[in-house]
Amino acid sequence: VSSIAPPINLSPADLFIAVKTTRQYHGLRLDLLLETWMSRSLQQTYVFTDGDDDKLKKRLGGHLINTNCSASHSRQALSCKMAQEYSAFIHSGKKWFCHVDDDNYLNVGSLVKLLSQYRHTQDVYLGRPSLERPIQATERLGSTHETQKEVRFWFATGGAGFCLSRGLALKMSPWASEGAFMVTAEQIRLPDDCTVGYIAEALLGIGLTRSPLFHSHLENLGLVSEIHRQVTLSYGTVEGSRNTVNVRGPFSTSEDPTRFKSVHCQLYPDTPWCPSPQTL
Ligand code: UDP
Ligand code: MN
Repeated sequence: VSSIAPPINLSPADLFIAVKTTRQYHGLRLDLLLETWMSRSLQQTYVFTDGDDDKLKKRLGGHLINTNCSASHSRQALSCKMAQEYSAFIHSGKKWFCHVDDDNYLNVGSLVKLLSQYRHTQDVYLGRPSLERPIQATERLGSTHETQKEVRFWFATGGAGFCLSRGLALKMSPWASEGAFMVTAEQIRLPDDCTVGYIAEALLGIGLTRSPLFHSHLENLGLVSEIHRQVTLSYGTVEGSRNTVNVRGPFSTSEDPTRFKSVHCQLYPDTPWCPSPQTL
């Protein structure tokens, strides 16, 4: 980063947080987020899903968005959701767009602290690259994709969460607004998070700012220290064994396999369902 200006007063209300989920994960994954970090950030969080859920609708109201995108893991289905996340952010007028998956714990306090080092009016694309080197793709332009060109660019892995400043998001609009995002994703035939990187870096020349505070389950989460400073966490399985962050308690690994409840109680011990400090 060439110039880090002094921190400005940024508040959670300046953020638009998009959580990507799918109907079958409402109970399996989203409920855990609602119990933990989302419970403290309902005002700035929007859930993008693909199927009706009356119970969830009652709880989230206008913050639950049924995209009507197909409920599959296909490139088209995922870029359909990202396109709607993007346009909802543009319409919200908020300063920052941040995307997370439904297997991410988001520490909104750390995120606000991180973003306050930047300006939303500048071009900022912030996250963690998933690969050690830029991705290479073939750009197919023209109505019959007759013009092909190799492009290389970095992208922030969606599974670790990433953010875009409003300044950059507005510049992305010719390739990202409404139907354009899906057309762009088809031009390079890559998933939604790669497409964001393609637009920012390959088309607009705005490089990814790396932050080590974002974490996906592609990395060894057991090695993450200073949990309270991290912006995102995740969980997953690798070859049948759990990949989670290492936190001692207060919940056992069978009560809290993802460790998100334990993380939440460490961050917010005053949470009603967290054991009171003297029993920790
Ligand atoms: N997802 C989705 N549609 C699907 C499957 C997954 O929108 O058909 C979402 C899921 O809710 C999550 C993200 O895509 O937010 C990544 O899914 P997952 O964690 O299962 O896969 P991975 O991290 O291995 O890519
Ligand atoms: Mn995942």
